[in-house]
Amino acid sequence: MLLRRQYEKQNTSRAQQIYETSEQNTMSLPKKIEWTGNWLNFYKCHECSHKWQDVWDCQVDDSCPKCQARHNTPYRSDEIYEGNYD
Ligand SMILES: [Zn+2]
Repeated sequence: MLLRRQYEKQNTSRAQQIYETSEQNTMSLPKKIEWTGNWLNFYKCHECSHKWQDVWDCQVDDSCPKCQARHNTPYRSDEIYEGNYD
């Protein structure tokens, strides 16, 4: 009976150790950052060279806000992660 109790106690403390270790590992992990599903697209007008940025859920062509020229393809697209922008 005594043997069995000692065994159980050892098991418990081992499980406790694993639990505490995993909890420490979780604590030290960096905060999880998730993609918002949006892109910050950078455009430069092929007609007037005007530059602007816009947020879209894809890398879509946009019209120039200055001269209304259409079909401007983004020359750069950044993924927007939570916490990056307000
Ligand atoms: Zn333009």
